[in-house]
Amino acid sequence: MSAAGDDLFGKTQTVFVLLPIPAEQAYSYAVPEGMNLAPGDFVQVPLGPRKVAAVVWDAPDEAKEVDPKKLRPVEVKFDCPPLAADMRKFVDWVAQYTVSSPGMVLRMVLRAPGALDPESAIAGIRYLGGTPERLTDARRRVMELLENDMAWTRSGLAHASGVSTSVVDGLVKQGLFEDIEIPPGPVVPPPFRGEEAEALAVALSDDQRAVSDALVERVREEKFSCTLLDGVTGSGKTEVYFEAIAAALEQGRQVLILLPEIALTSTFLDRFEERFGAPPAQWHSGLAPKTREKVWRQVAEGRVRVVAGARSALFLPFCEPGLIIVDEEHDSAYKQEDRVFYNARDMAVVRASLGNFPCVLASATPSVESRVNAQTGRYHHERLEARHADAVLPDLSVIDMRKDPPPRGKFISPVLTKAMEEALGRGEQALLFLNRRGYAPLTLCRVCGHRFECKNCSAWLVEHRFRNQLQCHHCGHSEQTPEACPECGTLDHLVACGPGVERLAEEVDETFPDARIIVLSSDMLGGVTRLRLELEAIAKGEADIIIGTQLVAKGHNFPLMTCVGVVDADLGLANGDPRAAERTFQLLSQVTGRAGRAGGASVGLLQSYAPEHPVIQAIEAGDREAFYEREIGLRQSAGLPPFARLAAIIVSGEDKRAVEVHAREMKFAAPQSGDVHILGPAEAPMALVRGRHRYRLLVHAPRAYDLQSWLRAWLAAGPKERGSVRVQVDVDPQSF
Ligand code: ADP
Ligand code: ZN
Repeated sequence: MSAAGDDLFGKTQTVFVLLPIPAEQAYSYAVPEGMNLAPGDFVQVPLGPRKVAAVVWDAPDEAKEVDPKKLRPVEVKFDCPPLAADMRKFVDWVAQYTVSSPGMVLRMVLRAPGALDPESAIAGIRYLGGTPERLTDARRRVMELLENDMAWTRSGLAHASGVSTSVVDGLVKQGLFEDIEIPPGPVVPPPFRGEEAEALAVALSDDQRAVSDALVERVREEKFSCTLLDGVTGSGKTEVYFEAIAAALEQGRQVLILLPEIALTSTFLDRFEERFGAPPAQWHSGLAPKTREKVWRQVAEGRVRVVAGARSALFLPFCEPGLIIVDEEHDSAYKQEDRVFYNARDMAVVRASLGNFPCVLASATPSVESRVNAQTGRYHHERLEARHADAVLPDLSVIDMRKDPPPRGKFISPVLTKAMEEALGRGEQALLFLNRRGYAPLTLCRVCGHRFECKNCSAWLVEHRFRNQLQCHHCGHSEQTPEACPECGTLDHLVACGPGVERLAEEVDETFPDARIIVLSSDMLGGVTRLRLELEAIAKGEADIIIGTQLVAKGHNFPLMTCVGVVDADLGLANGDPRAAERTFQLLSQVTGRAGRAGGASVGLLQSYAPEHPVIQAIEAGDREAFYEREIGLRQSAGLPPFARLAAIIVSGEDKRAVEVHAREMKFAAPQSGDVHILGPAEAPMALVRGRHRYRLLVHAPRAYDLQSWLRAWLAAGPKERGSVRVQVDVDPQSF
């Protein structure tokens, strides 16, 4: 090329930018003259006709000759603190582990793109003193709120005093105010620190103190560690990790608390506020977009010091993280099974390790994985064996339903009815737990035997009698309950088979006509707000009998609850999933753990047709250790996680035949390895979801095997996705 050509092209710096799109690589862009870019900077770049927010992934290259027609320039560098190096490593790590593209993981970081624009000051007014010329009623109301030097927005002041903005405008015209700019305020004031927080703490018991000292020491070390905080419900795990949080705040670090059901944890937020003087910032999918942007921005700037959030909070751009708490670490809500399949509990440990700070996993019923990690010394294991003070665990027993059956057409045995009666007689509360929403799990015609099935999913339609609907709990499809059978046309011969919470409520209402009953279920009318109110009402004693699905199992504190009845303890054990025992153990322990938290005697009764089942036995005996020992032994001898590695490949699509063929071709294309075994393809446990057929291939490999590399090689070798067919990877699947 001639010298003249050189001049024409000029020399340009280039930079790799990671975009929130499903691409394996960062893309190259030109750095415009005068723009200084460093790794982590948030930028806006053109992508086809679009403009997208993205992150500089590597340091810019030296200036070299590039064809400006081929390389488009970075358009904007946002005025926002850069994404920290440990967070960038985390994005790459998660992508590598979950066999997804880094761009799709970055997309989980860029959940609030509006937050990249700096918050601008808002126009406001400041009261200078003095009184208006003519004091009308409306003006008096405004004046009553004012103090010298106080800043307001016009509309805020009008709203607070219950007048129209024209009243405020009138006062401004009279010179009582000056115009000012109000700087953007924080979402939450920083929590109190140091001595103040100390004074608000409870006096810990000796056991609690020992555990809290250990955690505080690990926080002060400012290096990676992982602790399993393993203690029965009500043993003070929350009080103990509050101490660790206080220590991290004292060190000037930010704290992330992950909770499985953040939208329902108002009691947790209240408790936190009592202890620290300010609530944590919240992060979950229910936030308004503006709030979401504010929280994101202020986390990045370090103005928010504590976040309590759902699993997605793990991808917030913390600038000075010093501690992550994963509460109820065993909860399956931490698993995301969409786009990037990840378990936030496991990724929290990775995040802490890359950022070199401690992580605490808390649970009354730890996952088998975490227990094994504690046993092998990878995690510290801190236990709290007893409930605090006078609170004792409920007295648990199993009701053998073969010997003590309920009356015909009913579901509550005489023994359980009597225990409920006694609790109510003492002015206390009873809880009935049944993990089935709606009225009945199955509806059929007693003339022709027709069963109502969802047309999009392989699931029975569940009758919701309150709404007179049949509903699919997988895709949400619902239809009116017909009067006649669609198959044989016979009128009024549909029967409900088995109980759901609504049907149980009917039975309880007949048996206890004077009792105040609350049904708690995630599909209740009124959503989360109503649920919160109901939970508060229960805590205050405004109900006698609570009937609920697994929602009631989660962490709520009901001081008056002294009788818990599990209507069908066998429910979760029936399916073929090897994780069923663990899940049932966790759920039943959590549910019965709702009883007796405020002291005094309490009972937990489990109705079962298989009382000899080891899981039911371990719960009845209150023997957690027996359960873990047996379950860990079984996993080890069967070569199941965490003693081996599993991944699932899910092939889905609208056409069943095409999906099956694709899955078979996938199996055919698998790289040969003596270590890896592929099971399937077989129809997935849920074979039809939202109109998509699903086939699954299950991959099994030794624990030390580099399964990710093998999976990537497989995906590359396998048939390309075509038509509606999609291939997804689920490393560490929830159900085996
Ligand atoms: P967990 O998180 O293990 O379920 P919590 O921390 O919620 O247990 O404690 C259960 C109840 O006991 C809470 O109401 C808590 O405030 C109270 N509690 C626990 N430890 C103490 C203590 N040392 N002093 C006073 N109250 C305590
Ligand atoms: Zn459906």
